[in-house]
Amino acid sequence: MDSEADQQLHIFFFPFVAYGHMIPTIDIAKLFAARGVKTTIILTPLNASVLSNSIDRERSLGLDIHIQVIKFPGVEAGLPEGVESCDDMTSPEMVPKLFQAVKMLQEPLEQLIEEYRPDSIVADMFLPFATEAASKYGIPRFVFHGTSFNSQCVEESLICHRPYVGIASDREPFLVPGLPDKIEMTRLQLNEHFKVENGFHTEVRNLFRDAEQKNYGILVNSFNELEPAYAMHYNKVLGKRAWAIGPVSLRNRDSIDKVQRGKKTAINEHVVLKWLDSKKPNSVLYICFGSMARFSKAQLLEIAVGLEDSRVSFIWVVRTIRKEEEESFLPEGFEDRMEGKGLIIREWAPQVLILDHPAVGGFMTHCGWNSILEGLSAGVPMITWPMFAEQFHNENFITQVLKMGIPVGVEKWNDWIDAEDVQVKKEKIANVVSRLMGDGEEGKNMRMRAKELGEKAKVAVEEGGSSNENLTALIQELQMVKKASTTRHRVPSSQVF
Ligand code: UDP
Repeated sequence: MDSEADQQLHIFFFPFVAYGHMIPTIDIAKLFAARGVKTTIILTPLNASVLSNSIDRERSLGLDIHIQVIKFPGVEAGLPEGVESCDDMTSPEMVPKLFQAVKMLQEPLEQLIEEYRPDSIVADMFLPFATEAASKYGIPRFVFHGTSFNSQCVEESLICHRPYVGIASDREPFLVPGLPDKIEMTRLQLNEHFKVENGFHTEVRNLFRDAEQKNYGILVNSFNELEPAYAMHYNKVLGKRAWAIGPVSLRNRDSIDKVQRGKKTAINEHVVLKWLDSKKPNSVLYICFGSMARFSKAQLLEIAVGLEDSRVSFIWVVRTIRKEEEESFLPEGFEDRMEGKGLIIREWAPQVLILDHPAVGGFMTHCGWNSILEGLSAGVPMITWPMFAEQFHNENFITQVLKMGIPVGVEKWNDWIDAEDVQVKKEKIANVVSRLMGDGEEGKNMRMRAKELGEKAKVAVEEGGSSNENLTALIQELQMVKKASTTRHRVPSSQVF
């Protein structure tokens, strides 16, 4: 008879080197570990040093969760020393080099699989080689994209139907066809890979789409009740097998979990909480543009003046393009005038801790999917300021489908994480902030919808909830796969999952 240790599942988790991918992957590994699965998260040295606290803490509390560090061949790929994640990049020329370095991780991954013989691997969409590595060892490979069903359905529709071709102008709206809702876009909002045939972006897209055809399944950080029609479309129309197991950030229940999630915060959490405690419920706007996006001094100035003119209290997380501008972008006397009214945090804030505070009543976001789900889980309506990746799809989902957010009015997809131009003027910023945070019907309705969705998100991850049940079903299935493969020894490598 098999011992308990023989029956225990062991899963590898291998995220892409970006905080928006590593943070939710770690949350997912914790979710599996909390169900008795042994989990090993593969990280490169600098990222491990930043992210290990929360994982070590879970292990000290009894979870079978581990980190496996592998060298990042950044210098070999032509990157400067110390660049190990997307937010370390300082020029667009670094992007292909970073992807090149990531590609070189196939061999160390295979060595780890050879050594530890995990039962399965959950690897990021940007690591297509994981499919081949897993198939060599006859183990199931899951893909994690880090985004929603909706955005993947929109993307597939755009790729298959090319509705943007033949539209008279870049600003003229066109319908994204074949979807459950009427979603409109403009050509300006499209990702680079729709504009440049055979460019770097297209190459990356094709690589991961190919690898996706051969995987065992897809893990989605979403929940069935949020986007049922898109989950259905994904499965029935696109033919993909997926498990919605989110919002995974809700795994972080206490303050320490929330503070340790991601980079070291630039402000003591007690200071933030005390500041928020002094504010009325729903009165504070939280402003953050994710782990990568950076603004020019000119745009930061517009935001500062727009916020002051709106008269709304705020917490604003600021990342500048140029380090030397960190102190100098604010208008004369701004910090004195905003004393008690606004709190500026530089570089990294404990986002989930802040969003979950009852004083927070709005979120100005760049529409990264993690941020969207975290805001939604906290029941907070949004001002959407998309920049790159699939963020315009997320904006459309929030504003056109869920109707719990107001677009700030950004028109154009940015092909780099730095936004040099002024994209939105102070008048527009003040106007949308007042509309969302004010007492008008529009703001009230959005707040109500956001609260309802926040409740549904929490129910989904509780016992008996849809995401919780999906995780149970997935673990049971993997246990069956393990059992089957141990009885017939290993699945032959020709039998690819
Ligand atoms: N985040 C944070 N503090 C910050 C900035 C970001 O905790 O100051 C976290 C945020 O909670 C989210 C992740 O970093 O989990 C960012 O992911 P998202 O998909 O929103 O955007 P990306 O950084 O990938 O553009």
